Amino acid sequence: MRKEILKNVKRVVIKIGSRVLTDTDGTLDMEVIGRICLDIAALRKQGLQIVLVSSGAIAAGRSELGLTDKPKTIPHKQAAAAVGQTRLMRAYEEALSPHNLKAAQLLLTSEDLGSRQRFLNARATLDALLGFGIIPIINENDTVVVDEIKFGDNDNLSALVTNVVEAQLLLILTDIEGFYSADPFTVPDAKLIPLVRSITREIERAAGGSGSTLGTGGMATKVAAARKAGRNGVATIIVSGKRERIILAAMRGEEVGTLFLPSRDGLNRRKHWIAFTLKPVGRIFVDDGARDVLLKKGKSLLPSGVARAEGRFERGASVRICGADGKEFARGLSDYSSTEIARLAGRKSSEIEAILGYYYGDVIVHRDNLVIL
Ligand code: GLU
Repeated sequence: MRKEILKNVKRVVIKIGSRVLTDTDGTLDMEVIGRICLDIAALRKQGLQIVLVSSGAIAAGRSELGLTDKPKTIPHKQAAAAVGQTRLMRAYEEALSPHNLKAAQLLLTSEDLGSRQRFLNARATLDALLGFGIIPIINENDTVVVDEIKFGDNDNLSALVTNVVEAQLLLILTDIEGFYSADPFTVPDAKLIPLVRSITREIERAAGGSGSTLGTGGMATKVAAARKAGRNGVATIIVSGKRERIILAAMRGEEVGTLFLPSRDGLNRRKHWIAFTLKPVGRIFVDDGARDVLLKKGKSLLPSGVARAEGRFERGASVRICGADGKEFARGLSDYSSTEIARLAGRKSSEIEAILGYYYGDVIVHRDNLVIL
């Protein structure tokens, strides 16, 4: 199974967590970074293209700033990230240069990738870098983002990057062996699960909720990343980054860590971007009939099925589509603004022009711009 999947991999996104890269005192672990770069060099020789998503800026900056604890305030975190990011890149450059490899730095925000134009620019830049044989190293641009507009964590960012670079595999290096049946730190007989065919509720529960204790993002964000990558047709492997030659072992198809198979209901790249990269700015509530039609028939959302809109948004905005129970079941781009929807809700498409005095089409959300979650 693993070998079958790995046979088709040409581009791989490797996500490396802070805990893998740093010692307990927050300094960068040059031995680990050296080992990672050794494996990367071996993969490059095999002709694979590699994109890194690396954390560790805040952790590395902390010791530079002389802070004994993790920085707590946002400006302190951002200052640590700014100082640590250059340290981090220097470490990678040092470790790559004996292998005649060069690094490139890309600092991204979710607003960058949320703009279709900038998303496509990032893709073109990454394509060019990979064409030059360079190892792009991506991190969030921590210095300018606040919680509300963050990617959340680098697990999420790495899943979105699989779409940006059109990769076939996401390899997540973390500080435990893989995905366990329960939290291995608190449940002694928790078992390592080598293969996850589909990410069910049970799997999500085993990964722990947001209160999970496993590291920065924890296992929950890694499973969420595997789910997003999976809907992009991309398999995910989670392994322990502290182990020697682990990247090579994983890429050879050895039974290390956990393999998550891609989901069967994969999305095309644009729909994936709508579903996972764009930040929704409002909600459209629909009635049960419309919900059924969207879920079962794959049709567009008409004004007649809309109950109301929430939030202020413009035409073209990304919106959550929610049922009468308030739960989001789809996401899409709205062809009408929130104020227009307030006037069109429950009405027939044939009335749109009479109501507004103009007309952008029969539908509120076209099925080409709509994704069932
Ligand atoms: N961007 C952060 C850093 O480099 C890490 C975020 C994360 O690990 O999720 O320190």
